[in-house]
Amino acid sequence: MSRIFSGIQPSGELHIGNYLGAVKNWVELQRSFESFFCVVDYHAITVPYEPDDLRTRRREMVVSLLAAGLDPSRATVFVQSMVPEHTELAWIFNTVTPLGELERQTQFKDKASRQESVPAGLLNYPVLQAADILLYRADLVPVGEDQVQHLELSREVARRWNARFGDGFFPEPQAKLTPARRIMGLDGQSKMSKSMGNTVGMLEEPPAIWEKLRPAVTDPARVRRTDPGTPEVCNIYHLHKAFSPPDVVSHVETQCRTAGWGCIECKKVLFEHMNAELTPIRGRAAEIRAHPERVEQVVGDGAASARRVAGETLREVKDRMGLAQA
Ligand code: SF4
Repeated sequence: MSRIFSGIQPSGELHIGNYLGAVKNWVELQRSFESFFCVVDYHAITVPYEPDDLRTRRREMVVSLLAAGLDPSRATVFVQSMVPEHTELAWIFNTVTPLGELERQTQFKDKASRQESVPAGLLNYPVLQAADILLYRADLVPVGEDQVQHLELSREVARRWNARFGDGFFPEPQAKLTPARRIMGLDGQSKMSKSMGNTVGMLEEPPAIWEKLRPAVTDPARVRRTDPGTPEVCNIYHLHKAFSPPDVVSHVETQCRTAGWGCIECKKVLFEHMNAELTPIRGRAAEIRAHPERVEQVVGDGAASARRVAGETLREVKDRMGLAQA
């Protein structure tokens, strides 16, 4: 069975952008692949943060992942900082990664330009990412298009290490592109993201969701109720494609193009279908939160099983490199 690895930042409760763009897909993938899903808290400390806030965000992310449908009996769900082999392998990979490759990474240039003092960890972030993936010798990595450059760097690290020590030890991980779901924020301007304040939380209560959906940006050409629209340019239409059944999606297209209904009616239908999908997830989250000891158990068991695989990889790496074993 092929192995997949994917990580997610401990940003707290999932929003529907990362639910639709990544996690919903993971729930499917865990049925067909040996799966490792990791909350990558070491990655989260490359930008300023508060320790207590990080604890809360990490716990909330685990609750969200389990509520969304990750099943610990099928997939290994764990927290990166509970598996020290990640940082150990990252150091090793630092010694085979060319500085120039790191400096060329778009995300580094982007994030570094927004910080006064740039920590080395921000530059080396993709090396840790390579370690995350290669530690499990994963064949496939479910990624969005914006992560393809980092994955290419992981492949380069695998090639360089293999050429020096490994002769094919690390597989070159392949991208498993998430079915194109670049969910825009409700402002219709940029990708849905917490930092842009344009999100809908996956666990938000229906009245709060409607408060956000009602004023959300639609096709700007629909100034009056009688103006026909172009669904493809409207984020609400793309959300329909994610939440509503196919017959409803084609109804939306027709009604929009012929000005058969107004945007509020269209949003009410979307709201109904979002609720149908999100209500059971909210219910599961409440149940999980009522038993915090089970969450601890899941991440503890997940870390133990991740460490079994990670420890094996690291032992072999250290052996081939002439390093001492613990
Ligand atoms: S009718 Fe629906 S799809 Fe068309 S512009 Fe309005 S909200 Fe968007």
